Amino acid sequence: MPIHLDDLDVVSEIAGSSSALIVPCNMCPAVTVAVKENKPFVQLFRSFLKSAPFQQHIEGLQARLGDMGTETKVFKSLLPHQWFLCMWTSGQRAKLRKHAKQHDAVIVMGCPSATETVRDAVEETDTKVIEGMEVTSFMNAKLRFHLPCNVSFDDCKIVPMTGQEKEQDLSA
Ligand code: SF4
Repeated sequence: MPIHLDDLDVVSEIAGSSSALIVPCNMCPAVTVAVKENKPFVQLFRSFLKSAPFQQHIEGLQARLGDMGTETKVFKSLLPHQWFLCMWTSGQRAKLRKHAKQHDAVIVMGCPSATETVRDAVEETDTKVIEGMEVTSFMNAKLRFHLPCNVSFDDCKIVPMTGQEKEQDLSA
């Protein structure tokens, strides 16, 4: 089951960068946002293989960064096997390296393993790597397929990582 993440304040980190490439992991962060907003993770007929809540979340980040003068682009990972940044192929990493070189900074929307993938990809470039999210806990939920062709996560609970407090119910 995916991990649960919160956004970090990238505004202070990005100061001085005129352009940034946002690199989203389309799995745990997308599930996290869908669950937080109580919306379907994917609606296949509306936005094929895209998670609309996460997409809108990233657009919000782009708007905020645009207001402070940082131009952003989003690195696309359209195919499901590219959704998990922790398991990217060397080809996808090479593609990111090529695109990242054109920006001052890369903002990673994912966990530390996602950041590790990005650091590996942009190694030997001058591009700054900024973490856009932090891990808070695990999630436990019921995967549900429903009409017309939606995928949702129901009865979601936060499961603490070792050493954290007892589990929290997110469905309340
Ligand atoms: S990179 Fe991290 S956030 Fe993305 S799928 Fe892997 S574990 Fe989840």
